[in-house]
Amino acid sequence: MAEPSSIHIPVNLADYTPPVFQVETVELEFDLHPAATLVRSRLRLHRHAAGQLHLNGRKLKLREILLDGEPLGDNLYSLDPSGLTVFEVPDEFTLETLVEINPAENTELSGLYMSGSGFFTQCEPEGFRKITFFPDRPDVMARYRVRMSADAKRFPVLLSNGNKLAEGEEYGRHWAEWEDPHPKPSYLFALVAADLVAVKDEFTTRSGRHVDLGIWVERGDETRCGHAMASLKRAMLWDEDTFGLEYDLDVFNIAAVSDFNAGAMENKGLNIFNTAYVLASSATATDTDFQNVERVIAHEYFHNWTGDRVTCRDWFQLSLKEGLTVFRDQEYMADQFSAAVKRIADVRLLRATQFRDDAGPLAHPVRPASYLEINNFYTTTIYEKGAEVVRMYRTLMGREAFRHGMEIYIRDNDNSAATVEDFFNAMQAAVPEHNIWQIMRWYEQAGTPEVTAEETYDPASRSFTLTLRQTTKPTPGQDEKHPFLMPVAIGLLDAEGRDLLSETLLFHKAEQSFVFADIDQPAAVSLFRGFSAPIKLKGQSRERLAFLAAKDTDLFNRWDALQQYATAVLLEAVAAHQDGQVFRLDDGLLEAIAATLREAPRDPAFTAEALLLPAESLLADEMGVVDPDAIHAVREATRAALGEALRDRLNSTYWEYGKVDPADHSGPAMGARALKNATLAYLAASGDASRAWEQFNNTGNMTDRLAALTQLADLPGEKRDTALTSFYETWRNTPLVLDKWFSVQARANAADTLERVQALTRHEAFELRNPNRVRSLIGAFSANQAKFHNASGAGYRLLGDMVLRLDETNPQIAARLVSGLSSWRRFDTARQDLMRAELERILAREGLSSNTYEMASKALG
Ligand code: ZN
Repeated sequence: MAEPSSIHIPVNLADYTPPVFQVETVELEFDLHPAATLVRSRLRLHRHAAGQLHLNGRKLKLREILLDGEPLGDNLYSLDPSGLTVFEVPDEFTLETLVEINPAENTELSGLYMSGSGFFTQCEPEGFRKITFFPDRPDVMARYRVRMSADAKRFPVLLSNGNKLAEGEEYGRHWAEWEDPHPKPSYLFALVAADLVAVKDEFTTRSGRHVDLGIWVERGDETRCGHAMASLKRAMLWDEDTFGLEYDLDVFNIAAVSDFNAGAMENKGLNIFNTAYVLASSATATDTDFQNVERVIAHEYFHNWTGDRVTCRDWFQLSLKEGLTVFRDQEYMADQFSAAVKRIADVRLLRATQFRDDAGPLAHPVRPASYLEINNFYTTTIYEKGAEVVRMYRTLMGREAFRHGMEIYIRDNDNSAATVEDFFNAMQAAVPEHNIWQIMRWYEQAGTPEVTAEETYDPASRSFTLTLRQTTKPTPGQDEKHPFLMPVAIGLLDAEGRDLLSETLLFHKAEQSFVFADIDQPAAVSLFRGFSAPIKLKGQSRERLAFLAAKDTDLFNRWDALQQYATAVLLEAVAAHQDGQVFRLDDGLLEAIAATLREAPRDPAFTAEALLLPAESLLADEMGVVDPDAIHAVREATRAALGEALRDRLNSTYWEYGKVDPADHSGPAMGARALKNATLAYLAASGDASRAWEQFNNTGNMTDRLAALTQLADLPGEKRDTALTSFYETWRNTPLVLDKWFSVQARANAADTLERVQALTRHEAFELRNPNRVRSLIGAFSANQAKFHNASGAGYRLLGDMVLRLDETNPQIAARLVSGLSSWRRFDTARQDLMRAELERILAREGLSSNTYEMASKALG
């Protein structure tokens, strides 16, 4: 194994020092050419603290350097791979540099790069240093003025942050000048020069500011922008209504690009989006895609205040903007559709990814204390667990006080770079009568707390006592955990399921008792309603879960009780399967699923969620030694048996909800489609794929088409092959749909999935350069538990090969894939050896990026 190389130096929160120089103004001039772009930068700097002037810079060819207009002698500065140091500078001066960069060769997709029809940028977190020399850290906020010139024919559209000042054309090249009046950190800089067309609209803010809206896409894609534009306007209005936050520029542009490492980016006034989160039509996008577009459009727009106007002091504070903005987009989405269904989807994601990370070698706190490569920290812990922490603030404080706290936060930190403490202080100021300091532990301690409950009833005094206990397992670098403060939303239910009482408890000790006086003995207690804290509730009896699944007034807990009940049943069946016993469907589960189906008319979207059994990965998380084959066999046998036993009801439900207008993407229409397709899946699981075949061939709606194809892809044979071929032929020139074709095969339950994925990595349409394509095949496959963990180790090898190939061109994406191997300790020794061998093979590669090095070395432990 390679020695950890000395180039991998960690950055520590404890070492933070304020910037030595602040930048007041930045003037940039881009002379854009694919293979040799010239960037002239004029920075107005002034001293802020004692020390030397160091500017970050990576892969820049320095052509000129001038200080206050005078060329700087070679002995007055020095260059190294991390940047530029200038010796003996005055306290205030102008530094001018001219550098050459090569966007055409930039395959990392950070900095300035080429994709499709033009030039695009991605600067968060540290891409700006690949464009010009700069103190590339978020606590340096400056005003930007940008001039760019490019070939007028090839790159007819020239965009940057803020407002356009002027434009012109001469000798086949044209130019534009943009100015952003708001001071911003370098990570929010953006530039686009490409052959795009705009879909335009407008919005008037409530104080009367007129805003021109533009969504810029490749020619031909204009017809798929309507949903994104409508979502943007809804989000703008919602932020005014909900938080009193208005847009603050005259222009808001979104540019879509197909090669993009992340989902989207909140650059001031010029958001840049992965096409996957802009383009949607009923023929090409599923209902989930429609919701993702709306969610991400809202998320990036909300960043204008929580991110741009108030930014982060350093990258350890990343969750300050991301957790808060995810919370805001969750609330927005809950207001558009069903709040309970949205909550269920969010918790599903949190459990499947964040809980998993938090229980393994990659666990880190919401505010990490150290990193090698900040790009590795755009995680569900920073985003989704961060959002849960903000939600706990709101639950503890109440809606009104929380909104007041948000006003204080924005007011006190506007136009500055803030910390998690600044957020805390604002919230604490809004509830001066309560001391909420202990919530800060959620930022500092990693790991998912486990909570158990004990109940006693004293008939003599008619008092009911609830005792809660919390423990959190050690995580890397944190052996001892202190108790967390958590709001516990509870309900005491009588035998009919009526609430005797419902309130929110403040639970902040390792063990704490709550006494309720003058109360009849409850039939059941419903705990952590709405998932009021990101914890694991343990030790609930099956009787209790069955009762809550049938009766709880809290829809989320009703869903969760059924999930927990099913988990217990499935785990028992896995143990039986390992014992060689014949599979038998649990009567209680059958009854619960049957009851769920009967109640479909009340809320089809909720029913669709409730019908879905816990994922294989969640079952794995509950096992001492994961047995992916047994889990898969048992879960599939359960689905088949349920499909068999409930065939008539499933059929009638299928027909009842089958007649939705394919172009309707309202909540009720999406709910109906989700329910119909949930029944389709059960019918196919029980061996009846005829319905899926019918549906596949008779619909123009992508949700329905893909749901059917998903079922067909599980069953090797002529129907599968015909369907896959026809899908490919139809969509081979539509990249986002072709991604679905790859992922449906990567996720398939078929016996030959592994071989097919191996073959697909050599398919003519598989492109390593495009992150969406990589995620759709390799990312999806590594999440296919039973297939990825094939006992031969071939799945691991496939992933290792991809990581090593990608590391040479796009280390950010390579590093992300490594997490597929991080759970090795949870498996049998044979698989452990195979997984570890892959991690070691990755680490042995000479010249490995620090991105991949950090992930693989931490995963290995
Ligand atoms: Zn974000």
